[in-house]
Amino acid sequence: MNIIVLRKWSFTDKAELIALCNAVDRTYLSDRMPFPYTEDDADWWLGMVSLNEGKHGIFRAITLDGKIIGSVSVERNSVNRKEGELGYMLLTEHWSKGFATETVAQICEIAFRELDLDKITANVYERNIASIRVLEKNGFDFDSHGVTADIKQAVKRSETPASTTIIAGPCSVESETQIIATAQALAQIPEVTMLRGGIWKPRTRPDAFEGRGEDGLIWLREAKQESGLPTITEVATPAHVELVLKYDVDALWIGARTVVNPFSVQQLADALQGTDIPVFIKNPVSPDLRLWIGAFERFQKAGVKQLAAIHRGFSYYKESPYRNYPLWEIPIELTRQLGVPLITDVSHICGNRELLLPTAQKALDLATDGLMIECHINPDEALTDARQQITPEALKQLLSSLIFRAKKSGSVEHDLAELRGEIDDIDGELLQLLARRMEVSAQIGEYKKQNNVAVVQMDRWKKILADHIETGHDLGLDAGLVSAVFEAIHQASVERQSHIMEE
Ligand code: PEP
Ligand code: MN
Repeated sequence: MNIIVLRKWSFTDKAELIALCNAVDRTYLSDRMPFPYTEDDADWWLGMVSLNEGKHGIFRAITLDGKIIGSVSVERNSVNRKEGELGYMLLTEHWSKGFATETVAQICEIAFRELDLDKITANVYERNIASIRVLEKNGFDFDSHGVTADIKQAVKRSETPASTTIIAGPCSVESETQIIATAQALAQIPEVTMLRGGIWKPRTRPDAFEGRGEDGLIWLREAKQESGLPTITEVATPAHVELVLKYDVDALWIGARTVVNPFSVQQLADALQGTDIPVFIKNPVSPDLRLWIGAFERFQKAGVKQLAAIHRGFSYYKESPYRNYPLWEIPIELTRQLGVPLITDVSHICGNRELLLPTAQKALDLATDGLMIECHINPDEALTDARQQITPEALKQLLSSLIFRAKKSGSVEHDLAELRGEIDDIDGELLQLLARRMEVSAQIGEYKKQNNVAVVQMDRWKKILADHIETGHDLGLDAGLVSAVFEAIHQASVERQSHIMEE
C-alpha cells in the first residue's frame, strides 16, 4: 500500500532491529552506531528507548506494510531542553520514493507536540544531497556556517512560539487552607503553569518563621491534586531532596543563599544523581556569573538533564529601588553561554508590589522564558515577604497588562539571524581595524623610544578625542560612546607603547 507508519519500538523488535542496523548503508551515519550490530547493542538501545520515550526523545520504527524499513528519532538536547536533534536511517531500497520526507514530517509533528520543543536541528553531510532535499522540503533552514567543514546544521522552528512559563504561589506554605485556596485561585488563571511554595525558608535572623517542613509537603501535594498544577519548592540539603521526592513535588529550585556555597551545591547534585526531576538554579546572591555557571556544571556532571536558571537579582552596593539589583546582563550572559531556559523571579528582584509590572515587562522584552511571581491568598498577612506578594486576582490583572513578545517565532528569528549575521561581520571588520591600529601604534612606540619622546602626548590626545566626538556627532553617535571607545583604545595603545619603552 506504500503507506509509511511510524510506530513505537518494543522489545519484541530486537531481531528486526539487528537486521536493519546491519543492512543499512552507513556512508552518512554517525559513527555512534556500532558495526557489526549485536544482540547486546539492540538490548541496550531498546532499553534506552523505553526509558526515554516521550521524556527525552521520540523514537520510532519506520514501517511499510508492517515491516521495519528504518528508524527515526528526535532526541532532546540535554542542555537546552527546548531543542531536539533529528536522526534517521532508511534501507537503501526504499530511498527516492518520498518515504524519508514523509517520515521527517511525521516525526517533527510528534516531537514538537510531545516534547514541547522550540526547534529541531539536524546535522547533515554537505554531500548528502538527498537528505538535504528531505530537510528542505520539511521547512528546515540551513545555517550559513557548518558544524564542521563537511557537516551542515539544518534547523526547523516550531510554528507556535513556546509558551511563557508562569510560576506562581506563596513565598511560604503556611497552612493547609492557605496553600489550597491559593492554588485553587491560581488554577483559574490559564497562563499559570506551576505552583510554587517554600517549605524550608532561609531567614536572615534566627527566630523568624522558618517554614512548615514535612507537614507543608503534605499540604503542597494536596494543593497539587486540588488544582492540577505541578509544584516546585526550594531545597537546601540532601535531606530536603529526599523528602521532596517522597512527596511527589514536580520540580525543585536551589535558593540564592545555597548557590553561593559550592559544598552545598555539590551535596545536592550528589543527592540528585540518577533522578530526573527538573532543577531550577537561582543566581547566587553575589553578582558572580562564574559561581552560577559552576552550579550548573555540578548538576550537569551528576547527570541532571532538565536544568533552568532563575534570575532573582543580586545584593549590590548601589542604592536602588529594588530589593535585589537586577544586573540584567548577568542572566543574559548565562543563557548565552549555557543555552538553558531562564525564569525571572520578579518578586525577589522588586521586593514590593509596585515595581512588579515594569520589571516583568522588562524581563519579557529581554526574552525571558518565564516569570516567577509570589502570590498569596492574603498577602498582607503572609508570614514571609508580605510586601512583595500579590493576590491571585492581582496576578491575573498583571498578566493581562503584560505584552508577551513573540520570542522565537519562525520568521522573526529568521530575520534576526540575518541581522545578527551582519553584526558579526561588522564586528569582525572592527577587530581587523583595531589590530591594524595597534600595529601602527606599536611602530610609533618604537620611534618614540629611539628618539626619546614621551609616550603620552596629552595635547594631541585631547585634540584627537575632541575631533572624534565631533565627527561621531555628525554620524549620529553619542558622545559618551565615542569617548568610551576611544579612551579604551588610547589606553591600550599607551600600555603597548610603555611596554615597548621598557623592553
Ligand atoms: C524564595 O523564593 O522564596 C526565596 C527564598 O528566594 P531566594 O533564594 O531567591 O532568596
Ligand atoms: Mn520569598
